[in-house]
Amino acid sequence: MRLDGRCHCGYLSFEAESDPQNVSICHCTDCQTGTGSVFRISVRTPGKSFKMLSGEPTRYVKTTAETGNPRVQTFCPKCGTPIYSTSPGDNPDSYMVRVGTLNQRDQLTAKQQNWFRSARPLGYGTRLDSARREGPCMSPIENMHWIGRRAGCDS
Ligand SMILES: [Zn+2]
Ligand SMILES: [Zn+2]
Repeated sequence: MRLDGRCHCGYLSFEAESDPQNVSICHCTDCQTGTGSVFRISVRTPGKSFKMLSGEPTRYVKTTAETGNPRVQTFCPKCGTPIYSTSPGDNPDSYMVRVGTLNQRDQLTAKQQNWFRSARPLGYGTRLDSARREGPCMSPIENMHWIGRRAGCDS
């Protein structure tokens, strides 16, 4: 399916093509720190299909102790929104695009969870589907399993 998205301030925008089966949640500690949350949700897109439409993301390269592979993390230099990660060098095979930046995020569900052994209590047991139908706009502390915002709660 065709995907497009933008950062929070609108400086960066991009488009890509992906199979919606390629959405995954990552619970690794790098994703926890990098998002400021307890997990990250991304969709893998083929390298050839990804195209920046406006702006130039800031790149940050981190080599994790776990895999030894350097990863390029990108984000908006103005507002800090994470956009994607990829491998270093020209013409990477794929991009892991951050689902929260996509205009199509309502049509995607995660098919896989990675680094589940690093998952925090806040980051699993999520019941997003029922929360979207019934949940309150703000989550009380006793409903910590709920991490979503119900449709109509934005603003
Ligand atoms: Zn921005
Ligand atoms: Zn991760």
